[in-house]
Amino acid sequence: MQFKCFCGTRGAKSEDELKSFQEVVLNPNAPFGGLYTLNKLPRFSQEEIEKFATLNYKELARGIFACLNLGIDNELLDKALALYDGFDEIESPAPLEQIEEDLSLQKLYCGPTRAFKDMALQPFGEIFSSFIEGSKEQYLILVATSGDTGPATLESFANRKNIKVICLYPKSGTSDVQRLQMSTNDAENVKVFGIDGDFDMAQSVLKELLKEEDFQKSLKEQNIALSAANSVNFGRIAFQMIYHIYASLKVYKEKQKEVVIIVPSGNFGNALGAFYAKMMGFPIKKIVIASNKNNILTEFIQTGVYDISNKTLQKTYSPAMDILKSSNVERVLFALLGAKRTKELMEDLDRDRVYKITQEELGKIQKYFSATFCEDEVCLEILKEYANKKIIIDPHTACGIKAYLELKESKEENPMILCSTAEWTKFAPTLARAFGFGELGDKEALEKIAQNYGVQIPAQISLLFNKKEVHTQSLQKEEVKVNMLKWLKGE
Ligand SMILES: *Cc1c(COP(=O)(O)O)cnc(C)c1O
Repeated sequence: MQFKCFCGTRGAKSEDELKSFQEVVLNPNAPFGGLYTLNKLPRFSQEEIEKFATLNYKELARGIFACLNLGIDNELLDKALALYDGFDEIESPAPLEQIEEDLSLQKLYCGPTRAFKDMALQPFGEIFSSFIEGSKEQYLILVATSGDTGPATLESFANRKNIKVICLYPKSGTSDVQRLQMSTNDAENVKVFGIDGDFDMAQSVLKELLKEEDFQKSLKEQNIALSAANSVNFGRIAFQMIYHIYASLKVYKEKQKEVVIIVPSGNFGNALGAFYAKMMGFPIKKIVIASNKNNILTEFIQTGVYDISNKTLQKTYSPAMDILKSSNVERVLFALLGAKRTKELMEDLDRDRVYKITQEELGKIQKYFSATFCEDEVCLEILKEYANKKIIIDPHTACGIKAYLELKESKEENPMILCSTAEWTKFAPTLARAFGFGELGDKEALEKIAQNYGVQIPAQISLLFNKKEVHTQSLQKEEVKVNMLKWLKGE
């Protein structure tokens, strides 16, 4: 039974235009350029929350999904959650490790591609496949990646029936590990192209392509439907609420205090999961957004002005957070300010590259969020300082540590949880630089760090260097369309 419980963030074209979970997973584009979102969230009582606190990870996920009325049948959900069995630890796919008296790291990178994208994309792949079972069409998923989404999407959809994935990445914009995670994937249904340009270009090439009529026509002729697996797909957001709930309950049970959750943020999908968890009544005091020097989110949450009119994207050591338009903020606006206002603000942004909310509206946002950012030099210092304490983290997590240090400075009294969004092994050259080892390639950097700091390199990473690179094609942007169509036709 599919419940129609999703509405568009910018309103609907007719009154009763609600969609089911299946519909929004397969076609995530809402009216007026908006995103689909739950039209209402449950609010749990203290008693219910205490009951949730007794459940293990999978039971918790089942319990929450049932209350959200998504209409995923139990057998399918179990099959999707079973994909977590391949993660590092049996008890939880996202284990907590206390690293300071008042700070726990939540390791969201224990899946196959060593970044938090696996937390959602692994089960999402199963759900998506099941939803298109029996469909006469093939589904094509196009991905532009700065390095973490691509590998996780390929891993999740490799060898799945009736699905094809094409992934574009910036040829010289990823680490060797990230590139190999894509280029060595030898499943028949996936194709990877390096592109001469940066992530922005890869993304805009895809956007342009999607608007082209002859591309659309060509897909139609081959009976191929387009979908997306990016972080605006609610199917991913759903799984990203669960680990925040799990962590908040675990720490709350121990300390009897609400938690502060620090989230290294880019497109705001991870933070959105925490936001929904707080809205549902779970013991979360505040969500702290950590960014790098592309600090648009810090500015917005501190001042209420979202202004990208005078900004250009800057490259940093934490590339997954190099972003100007952070898509999922829109869902927060919808939840707190309503569809009409959200539409107005988003239209301001599209037209003027800036929008501004009132002081009263800002007050609502600040009840949930605070924000800060971290410069590259500070990021390197933190990587080194923590490595000296035998805690090896990645650059995104280091930006979160900066937020933690500021909270500590301001005498935060509640326990804090930092979402560790990637394993250090994906960004070893940056760590090598921080540790004073000079400019090393990934392989040398990995080995040197493992030796010097006594840490392990997981097999998922070390084996990459022995695999054959099957996708080596590099394209200019003008060549993308022809090559995609060629591959789709099996030429
Ligand atoms: C994707 C990613 C982020 C940003 O997550 P959002 O949900 O887009 O805010 C942060 N860190 C790492 C390592 C990532 O891969």
